Amino acid sequence: MNSKPKIVVLGAGYAGMMTTKKLMQKLHPEEADIVLINKHNYHYQTTWLHEVAAGTINHNLARIMISDIIDPNRVRLIYDSVVEVKREQQQVVLENSEVNYDYLVISLGFETNTFGIKGMEEHAFFIQDIDSSQLIREHIEYQFAQYKNSEAKEDHSLTILVGGGGFTGVEFVGELAERVPQLCRKYDIDRNIPKIINVEASPSILPGFDEELVAYAKKSLESRGVEFREGAKIQSCTKEGFIVGEGNELIKAGTVVWTGGVTGNSVLGNSGFELTRGKVTVNSDLRAPGEENIFVLGDCAWVMNEKEGRPYPPTAQAAMQHATTCANNIKALLHHQPLENFVFSDKGTVASLGVTDAMGTVFGGTKLYGKPAAAMKKVVDNRYLFLLGGLNLFLKKGKIRPF
Ligand code: FAD
Ligand code: NAD
Repeated sequence: MNSKPKIVVLGAGYAGMMTTKKLMQKLHPEEADIVLINKHNYHYQTTWLHEVAAGTINHNLARIMISDIIDPNRVRLIYDSVVEVKREQQQVVLENSEVNYDYLVISLGFETNTFGIKGMEEHAFFIQDIDSSQLIREHIEYQFAQYKNSEAKEDHSLTILVGGGGFTGVEFVGELAERVPQLCRKYDIDRNIPKIINVEASPSILPGFDEELVAYAKKSLESRGVEFREGAKIQSCTKEGFIVGEGNELIKAGTVVWTGGVTGNSVLGNSGFELTRGKVTVNSDLRAPGEENIFVLGDCAWVMNEKEGRPYPPTAQAAMQHATTCANNIKALLHHQPLENFVFSDKGTVASLGVTDAMGTVFGGTKLYGKPAAAMKKVVDNRYLFLLGGLNLFLKKGKIRPF
């Protein structure tokens, strides 16, 4: 009979992959069995999905076979969808089977949040995963091909409308500013016809971010043909476009993408966890309240920044740091030692504005613009690949193309 404790990790994103990798390094194979469960047999770089959606990178660059990183002889890999966690039975229900656990790590990432806006689920595309991002890319290209081949040309069919001017929306329109001119050349269409419009409810895009950097981002994107509609709340979405503002103005478009917010994976709610805006408010050791053996990480976790009295934003940077604390704490539990508290180390925020431009803050507040910022963004992306899969993965999937 197998008496080793079983650690089950749900979701092979930033938090799940790094936790599994660290558990493999920290624990002797005799100490515990490790199981990693993920929907697909690949891990993907969520932080590159806007590029996949715009079509500026191939989706295969953004995905990595899990078994290339995690040794299947050491970790049991299950490719299936998690439906529910039954905490009383210490069991995870999958679409096709059940798995029991002694220690559970929930790192199932985010789901797009439409805040119940009428028509959004039915008519808008979401940058949610590789498949949904590929669908956006294909749909945009289809609009161009269709326009070229139709007799009665409707110019608004080439408009790409992006709802929400947070980091995802802004990074996405930055990629579109690269992609749309390519599509115009490919289909021989005047560049003045397709429009890229970003709609943001707050008075400014990137609400709360450094004003100087926001002004830089706007100027750079506007100079490449992006239009911003700020202070314009999207009221609803129809098959023609967004209904916006107090006056219910219809902005027509052939492609409508919603980037207006995210929430924790719905498996949390289905499993009866108490939620704060769709996430589990974790204890300082990253365990779910009242649970001795369940950790919740990444975009599923509501982690309070006590100094500022608000939660840390859900980022890959934070998810990877959660992974380190979680792996340390599982080892501590196995060794009957005290657990450590999670302490976030802010490495800064850099947002891409297309392939050769970016802006952000690094090293405790230093502002970066333009090519240095774009280079820094690539360093951040490549560093992750190096941490995950060493030099091999960096050489295989790294962003080493010159500007
Ligand atoms: P994820 O990395 O999303 O992984 C979740 C995993 O769980 C996936 O593999 C998924 O397939 C799997 N899964 C989901 N549901 C199930 C299920 N039911 N059953 C089985 N498996 C399931 N953050 C930054 O720090 N820097 C950035 O530059 C940045 N850019 C971003 C750009 C975009 C376009 C987006 C959308 C986000 C960006 N973020 C960025 C935020 C960052 O991507 C997330 O915070 C991060 O991915 C969270 O990591 P995670 O491990 O919690 O989830
Ligand atoms: P977000 O919540 O940060 O931004 C959503 C935006 O949509 C907000 O500006 C909000 O005001 C707007 N919005 C909401 N409802 C609206 C409505 N009805 N009409 C018009 N606008 C509306 O979501 P996100 O941009 O998807 O980012 C999610 C997380 O991922 C954040 O924590 C972000 O920091 C992180 N992220 C980071 C990077 C980076 O570091 N480069 C890139 C992408 C995402």
